[in-house]
Amino acid sequence: MQKEPFRRLCIVLDLDDTLFLERDYVRSGFTAVGDWVKDRFQIHDFAARAYDYFEQGRRGDIFDAVLKDCCCSPITAADIDSMVAAYRRHSPKISLLPDAADFLLFCQGRFDLGLVTDGHPDSQRRKVAALNIQHLFAVIVMTGEWPNASKPNPRAFQHIEERLAAPGMGFCYIADNPVKDFQAPLTLGWTTIRIRREYGLYASGEGPVDTRPHLEVSSLDSLKPLFDSLFSAGN
Ligand SMILES: [Mg+2]
Repeated sequence: MQKEPFRRLCIVLDLDDTLFLERDYVRSGFTAVGDWVKDRFQIHDFAARAYDYFEQGRRGDIFDAVLKDCCCSPITAADIDSMVAAYRRHSPKISLLPDAADFLLFCQGRFDLGLVTDGHPDSQRRKVAALNIQHLFAVIVMTGEWPNASKPNPRAFQHIEERLAAPGMGFCYIADNPVKDFQAPLTLGWTTIRIRREYGLYASGEGPVDTRPHLEVSSLDSLKPLFDSLFSAGN
């Protein structure tokens, strides 16, 4: 934890695989793309085929691969652009994980809350809207709205500090990706906590030794007594 005692705490959360399961978003997006593909190519099982590829670890060319498997031709760049747009602009069918919903409720009135998330801003905005959580955060940073600002770039975290710094304020970042999420907040002296969810896409990954978070939990439920004790011990 941070070396200096703090009297207030700003808890900053990641979005994907921290508050909801990214797999659910991917499945929802493939279903939306499947509707478009059904009209364009008369393929009825696009979403299932695409999700199979995703579960196999394929990334970056799943749309092309499924269309090729189904002998769709010709596939134009405009077709792929339309599919990407359908994916990013669909209204996702996702839900807060139960421990995330409870944790956000627990934080209300106790801590300042922020959100820092990478990803295409069209998609990220729709995720936040689908979860109906925008009103909970004092600051939301979607790094995709700024050039070259995705994690581990520290800009989002510096922005949070500039917006929410106050006497006695400590900062904590809770996120799931050990490769990119913790380097910047650690450099800034924040407390860092990894949420390693059973079905998280990065659950089995490990990051560099020098960017290991201070704490790791499998559920945000574990953090409630910890934060309660911090603030009932004279802070
Ligand atoms: Mg994440």
